[in-house]
Parts: sequence; structure tokens; C-alpha cells
Amino acid sequence: MPDAAWLDARARGRIPDQGRRSRGPCVAIECFEEIPCDPCHDACRRGAIRPFSQINHLPEVDFDVCNGCGACIPACPGLAIFVVDETWKDDFAVVRLPYEFLPVPSPGDEVAGLDRSGQERCAARVVKVERSAKHDRTTVVWVEVPKSLSMEVRHIRVGGSGGGSREV
Ligand code: SF4
Ligand code: SF4
Repeated sequence: MPDAAWLDARARGRIPDQGRRSRGPCVAIECFEEIPCDPCHDACRRGAIRPFSQINHLPEVDFDVCNGCGACIPACPGLAIFVVDETWKDDFAVVRLPYEFLPVPSPGDEVAGLDRSGQERCAARVVKVERSAKHDRTTVVWVEVPKSLSMEVRHIRVGGSGGGSREV
């Protein structure tokens, strides 16, 4: 398990800070392994994901250019890209996440919001489901979660919450 300092250094340029998150939807790229991969750069038509000088480098985001469109989410084979919108509602944020399981949820469904270790953190509500022929295996699910968990919830379990609460 990498230590906190290592993760902190890896997060720089990939994870938006509180100030950026308060200004509107933005990408969070949780790609911390140096692997030969770069489709996220090509997927971003705005140029917010800077060109890779070397294929093994980690992606770097210009958070002033990213508008949180989400086009890069299904392009990532590592399912490492999310969009966070902390301006969604006063107490709730929306996390857009890649989802490759069945069944695919529907808007309005109550699901369990899981953290990076698979622990259930809250009940979450699906607000939108995006599927495109271009990315036939990767659905993008928008889930509403308590704002305090916007940087924690990174997966969902369809079929409802097994004991989490929808507390803010
Ligand atoms: S969310 Fe949109 S603008 Fe931001 S990095 Fe991804 S593709 Fe680019
Ligand atoms: S596409 Fe995904 S796995 Fe590949 S470099 Fe970009 S964020 Fe990392």
C-alpha cells in the first residue's frame, strides 16, 4: 500500500483542489501507475489533459481549461477517470463514474456508494446514465452523493444500500 506522501505527490496535477471543485464540475484522474497509456489525452477535445512527452508519464490536467464535460471518462481503459460536481446542490454533489457491470442502473435508482476499497459509504441516487455506441462497454453513471463524500465515492453497487444512510 503506497504511503500518503507518495499518493499526495501522485495526486498533484490530477486531483482538483477544493478551490477548483467549488467553481464547477471538473475531472479527477486517479491514475497513479506509470504505464504505457494515453487515450485520455486524445479524448479531451479542449486540451485540458496535457500532451504526454513520454507514453509512460502520468496524465496532467490544466484545471482552468477542464469544464467537466466527462468525455474522457469512458476513454480510460483503467476506469481511473471521474468527474466531480460539488456545485450540484447545497448539500449534495454529483460524481460521474465509469461502470462496466450488469445490471446497468437507471435514473432514479437508489444504489450503494462505495469508496476505493469497496466499502459502502452512503446511499446514492442515480441521476443520469450515459451509454454510447462508441464506448459500448463503459457506461458513465451520474450519482448524487452527500457533498462530504464527493472525493470518496468511486464505485456503486446496484441493488440498493445495505445499511448506509443518505446523511449529509
Ligand atoms: S472532463 Fe472534459 S474537459 Fe475535462 S479533462 Fe475530461 S474531456 Fe477534458
Ligand atoms: S487513459 Fe486512463 S489509465 Fe491511461 S493514462 Fe489516461 S488516465 Fe491513465
